[in-house]
Amino acid sequence: MHEFTPDVEALAQEVLDYSLVRMKSNPPLDYPKSEAELYALAGETITEDGLGGSAALKLFTDVLAPACISTDHPSYLAFIPSAPSEHANLFDLVVGASALYGGSWQEGAGAVYAENQALRWLADLAGLPKSSGGVFVQGGTLGNLSALVAARHDARKKFNGVTRWVIAASKESHSSIVSAAEVMDVGVILIPTEDDLVLRGAAAAEIIDAHEANNPGEKVFALVGTAGTTNLGIIDDLNGLADVAEARGIWFHVDGAYGLAALCAPSVRAMFNGIERCDSFIVDPHKWLFAPYDACALIYRDPKQGKDAHTQHASYLDVLENEDEWNPSDYAIHLTRRPRGLPFWYSLAANGVKEYIVSMEATLKLAKDVAERIKSHPNLELLRDPTLSVVAFTRKGWSAQQYQQWSDKLLEDQIGFVTPSAHRGQPILRFAIVNPWTQMSDLEAILATL
Ligand SMILES: *Cc1c(COP(=O)(O)O)cnc(C)c1O
Repeated sequence: MHEFTPDVEALAQEVLDYSLVRMKSNPPLDYPKSEAELYALAGETITEDGLGGSAALKLFTDVLAPACISTDHPSYLAFIPSAPSEHANLFDLVVGASALYGGSWQEGAGAVYAENQALRWLADLAGLPKSSGGVFVQGGTLGNLSALVAARHDARKKFNGVTRWVIAASKESHSSIVSAAEVMDVGVILIPTEDDLVLRGAAAAEIIDAHEANNPGEKVFALVGTAGTTNLGIIDDLNGLADVAEARGIWFHVDGAYGLAALCAPSVRAMFNGIERCDSFIVDPHKWLFAPYDACALIYRDPKQGKDAHTQHASYLDVLENEDEWNPSDYAIHLTRRPRGLPFWYSLAANGVKEYIVSMEATLKLAKDVAERIKSHPNLELLRDPTLSVVAFTRKGWSAQQYQQWSDKLLEDQIGFVTPSAHRGQPILRFAIVNPWTQMSDLEAILATL
């Protein structure tokens, strides 16, 4: 090990060849296997003498990789898929080869500069001041948690006599908000919405004030708006929520892990109005901004608040503290970090903003178009017109079990990956369209099985 021998050189070619073929050709959709099946095929892989690079690679390409569903397949429409651009994927290879450290300016200035340019683009789209900034973390779950920890840190300085801190969010908000509250050991109020599922200022104000009046000592310190719910793409009334947070002097966080990617799309930009008033927001480039796993952009209006909450202090770290230098480690719950924003930055730098807008608008249009097909399909009912690129619908007369059987068979037949979800207790199907590679013909092939 640790010697670049001719054998390693040959292996490098094999690795690159595989990587390029994987990027170039339509990957099969594939499907998981049980552990017993995989054991029968792969067996024990860690041995005293090692398998050798070629054999271990072959084990991966022939056995293990096909047991992973291709999340970038055009017919992968479950959850939120992934659709990294060629540029982003290629640059991930470069990042992997470069041992870059992204925690501090001293060690990774060039990488941090590039990441900050990508964060700047997002902050500008949101209309935050030039002094705003943040960091790329692993995912939206960690981004939401880091923002809410900063919010509580800020609240502790502002409010006295509080016996229990509480987060307020919509009932439709992502599971990671409840998870953050659990980790922080704070309360959480999930505010019910009207039929359109949008959380508005009036409902938030009423519930927050009633909660505080009925529970002396409890204080709501953060109001979370969702900009694009995972299940249906619903966007809360961000201006209304900003009013409520502002009037109470509390933190306004916007969870846009999926939806805020569309900030760059002129056709839907106005729906995010009010985002410019947030104290922090997140968006996952690995969802709808054409970057590979795993990257969430976390941005603070006033980064000092993030830094105050998150900077770790130790004798061996103090050398890094320099007011003029941006240390990404200081802005979230982490220390060592790879500069995971770089593939996103490279794709943006190489392709330019216009290409991003074209790809984003293409996915939005496909969502609208397929909604029309669903409306005219004899067996289907569109749940609601899509706000963003999630299209939800039901199959007339089917039980939850029938949905599941259909979904299993669809994957087995390698036609698509669409998993049942639920809305108000009823099973639904949803297409989450984030991949510009997805064509109407891919969706029609799936609709034809319904
Ligand atoms: C996906 C998602 C999250 C969680 O993000 P991860 O990157 O999966 O941790 C949070 N909020 C919303 C609205 C999401 O769609």
